[in-house]
Order: sequence, then structure tokens, then C-alpha cells
Amino acid sequence: MNSILEYKNLSVTYPGGVEALKNVNFKINKGEFIVIVGLSGAGKSTLLRATNRLVNPTGGKVLFNNKNVTEANKKELRNIRSDIGMIFQSFNLSKRSSVFRNVMAGRASHLPTWRNILGIYPEEDKDIIFNSLDRVNILEKAFARADELSGGQQQRVGIARALAQEPQLMLADEPVASLDPPTSHMVMKDLQNINRELGITVIVNLHFIDLAKEYGERIIGLNKGEVVYDGPAASADRATFEMIYGRSLTAEEEIGRDSSGI
Ligand code: ADP
Ligand code: MG
Repeated sequence: MNSILEYKNLSVTYPGGVEALKNVNFKINKGEFIVIVGLSGAGKSTLLRATNRLVNPTGGKVLFNNKNVTEANKKELRNIRSDIGMIFQSFNLSKRSSVFRNVMAGRASHLPTWRNILGIYPEEDKDIIFNSLDRVNILEKAFARADELSGGQQQRVGIARALAQEPQLMLADEPVASLDPPTSHMVMKDLQNINRELGITVIVNLHFIDLAKEYGERIIGLNKGEVVYDGPAASADRATFEMIYGRSLTAEEEIGRDSSGI
């Protein structure tokens, strides 16, 4: 009904035989804020990448707004991808270009090729760029070069670029893994605001459990490619995370436990 995404018996086996996802089944409703947790190698990145078919499922399917992503043709896939923004751990910016040019790349799919080549954009699109930068509080850096910015600022440019796409769904693959704790909180709050104020559905892969508990509304736990937990963040405790990880927690994973109450 209201589901924006549905994974049905989704499996991904990579060439070479690694079973990264095994029979994953769950639905995500419009407007949810989901955090995916699991050890390194659990299949978190594969799940995000299978969502917009950067990785091809080897079994089952993904439905986006009831459209079968797995069987979409080229044009359908382009349309689906234009509704899905992505944010990466390493930011993936064009470092020597301005912030503005980087965020413009998020509008590229909405514009004819000649405009992208010449860099001539309609006012309406420029407004979308500036609004996106404003939403992540980095408007004053619009004409700075991307590589002049701090890591946290670069990640906000990454978010602004995804926002400029005007997506329905935002996928973030460990977006704070290279940031310090205060900056991580700022980036997580930006994602939370986007979710609450714009109604964009957000899925974030995280490996810090304090952040998962603080920002996630619903947590999906992956262990060796299988969903082993799917429930509200509020009812996930230390035992839940130990079950998801399949072992006791390390000090690093518990950083910030005082504020999360775990
Ligand atoms: P996570 O993001 O949770 O760390 P991944 O989805 O990256 O997990 O990886 C899941 C499993 O799939 C791991 O065993 C990993 O080594 C393997 N894997 C990931 N990408 C590839 C690939 N392109 N080719 C082969 N194996 C891969
Ligand atoms: Mg990963």
C-alpha cells in the first residue's frame, strides 16, 4: 500500500561464490528512517547497491513503488535511479570543481546534455541547488572548491547533491565512517531533517550502535547476508546488537554508550 520499497527473497551471490545476501524479505514504508547494522562483510553495502541495481540480484527481486527494479529496462531503470539519491563514505565529489558544480551533478539527469556540457542552467535549477546547500547549512561555500572543505563539509555537499535530485529515497552507505563524532552527529541530523521536513525515506548503513539507536527509528540487523533483526530502535539493547554481530561488542562499537544508555 504505502510501501516505497519491498525486498522479496532477495539474494546476491557474487562471482566466485560469496553469498552476500540470502533470502532477504522486508518492506519499507514511505517516510521511514531505517538504519542497517551489521559487521563488516554482513552485506549492508550489497543491500543498498541492489536497491538501485548497481548490483544485480541473483535471486528474488526489489520493488520500488511497486515497480520491479530487477526487471526494469534501461529507460525504466534511469527513471527509478533519478528518484533515488546516494551518499557515500568517501563523499565521491569532484574535488577540483566548485561545490556548486558538484551539486549541479545531482540535477544532471533532469537536464538536456548540452546544458550539462556548457554549464548553462535554468534559474529554477539554480534555485534547487542553492536550496539544497542551504538545507545542509553550507550555502556560503557554494563557490569554494570541494577540496578546500573539511570532511564534514564535503559530506554535506554529498547530501546536497543527492537532494538536488529531488529524490523520494535516500541511500547512505556508512556516511559518517570517516568523520569524527561531533561531525558525525551533524551529518546524521542533516539526514534526520531531510527525512522529517521533506518526507524523504532514508536508509543508512552504520556500524556505530550509538548512532543507530539515536537516529534510527527502525533497525534492520544483518548477519552473514541474513536479516536477523527487524524492529524499533527503541527496543534494541546490547543483547540485540550482540545477537546481530554474533559476538560481544568491542569498546570502539560502544563509543558514546553513555549517551545512548546501552
Ligand atoms: P558490508 O557492507 O556489510 O561490509 P558487503 O555488502 O560489502 O558488506 O559485502 C558482503 C560480502 O560480499 C563480503 O563477504 C564481501 O567480501 C563480498 N563482496 C562484496 N562486494 C563484492 C564483489 N564485488 N565481488 C565479490 N565479493 C564481494
Ligand atoms: Mg559496506
